[in-house]
Amino acid sequence: MASADDIDLYELLNLTKGASKSEVKKAYHKAALTSHPDKVPEDEREEADIKFKAISQAYEILSDDDKRAAYDQYGMAAFEQGGAGGGFGQGPDLDDILAQMFGGGAGGMGGMPGMGGMGGMGGAGGGRRQGGKGKNEVQQYEVSLEELYKGKTTRFASTKKVVCEHCHGSGGKEKAKAKPCDSCKGRGQTTRIRPVGPGLVTQETVPCSTCSGRGSFFADKDKCKKCKGVRTVSAKKILELYIPRGSREGDKIVLAGEADQDPDDDSPGDIIFELVEEQHKTFHRAGADLQAELDISLSEALTGFNRIVLTHLDGRGIRLHIEQPDGRVLRPDQILKIRGEGMPIKRSDAKGDLFLTVNVEFPEDGWLKSQAAVDKVKAALPTVEPVSFGVGETPEIVDEVDFEEVENLEEFGAGSDDPRAGGDWEDDEEGAQGAQCAQQ
Ligand SMILES: [Zn+2]
Ligand SMILES: [Zn+2]
Repeated sequence: MASADDIDLYELLNLTKGASKSEVKKAYHKAALTSHPDKVPEDEREEADIKFKAISQAYEILSDDDKRAAYDQYGMAAFEQGGAGGGFGQGPDLDDILAQMFGGGAGGMGGMPGMGGMGGMGGAGGGRRQGGKGKNEVQQYEVSLEELYKGKTTRFASTKKVVCEHCHGSGGKEKAKAKPCDSCKGRGQTTRIRPVGPGLVTQETVPCSTCSGRGSFFADKDKCKKCKGVRTVSAKKILELYIPRGSREGDKIVLAGEADQDPDDDSPGDIIFELVEEQHKTFHRAGADLQAELDISLSEALTGFNRIVLTHLDGRGIRLHIEQPDGRVLRPDQILKIRGEGMPIKRSDAKGDLFLTVNVEFPEDGWLKSQAAVDKVKAALPTVEPVSFGVGETPEIVDEVDFEEVENLEEFGAGSDDPRAGGDWEDDEEGAQGAQCAQQ
């Protein structure tokens, strides 16, 4: 859930964290110009006003050395009442504005006027709402790991219902009077009997179909020409969706007030995009860390290498140099941790870490084609002490055995009802993997 804490003032002004004072100023002018309430059509004015205020406040903080330092260290928490920054009288105001813009209540801001009134989100129980904030539209938005790594701004056309400007949402011609609905006696609702089973009926209340639940309607000749009495019209709007780099699955991006308008609402609801992270073919992600396989040959594992081992999410090649002689040997399932090559962490220049799991590709069966080759390899590899037995411990009977290869331990104890049988091992193995790796 996004809170005011998650809001990046730098991102609000399209700035990077290291931006100079003059860059902050320039960015503010640019942002202020495009979202000045006087520059937008009347129906977008309220929202532009909110955005404009947020931009102004962001500038107020980022252009002031002390406030900027406090923000860099504590985030918006520095400006909450009693926060580390203190003395910033407009703090709650900004939080309020940002909360409106980005959804979610700011933590610890209890008792704020206006916040209580927003409880109606999602529509309380059936029936017709009067006033309050309109319904939010929640949509899932799929993003690739590359996009989450680099951040993404996307524009898209959205078609939504807006209150008809011609009749200001009344649905009737100027001076025309709506006449009370006969079907529902002006109540806007009718009851109907619905069968729910053999011999069983239930009575339910539904919005009146004649007047669309309004209790009154305009005669055809009195209907607004533009919306034909519907009170809203369809409008296309270009919306911009900004996904900060380092965003995570489940993060919510709120386009405040961009949901369908309804003349009965005080303000329209928000469009909320919930991020869904697409699976990546190379990288796995947990928090800000990434994990990938490092495929190397047996020869590389033993004799070292110096090459690009994978392409990162921003297209960079990642090179590893394991130098020999006297260098390190890489072993199957070994974990290499590369600091600072994970995902970006929101609102900072820091990044998580990259964990590479070593996967050694052994040669195919029969790769040694001659006894000479066998001897050569044997001579090159270190001598390993064979399994030996103490004096008198050598078994008297020795059987040479044959083997076949199987994929896994599933056959082990199969059909025996023994809880220790192979199939049940699977889960344990997965759980134990982390521990196994850590031992290396
Ligand atoms: Zn109209
Ligand atoms: Zn009616």
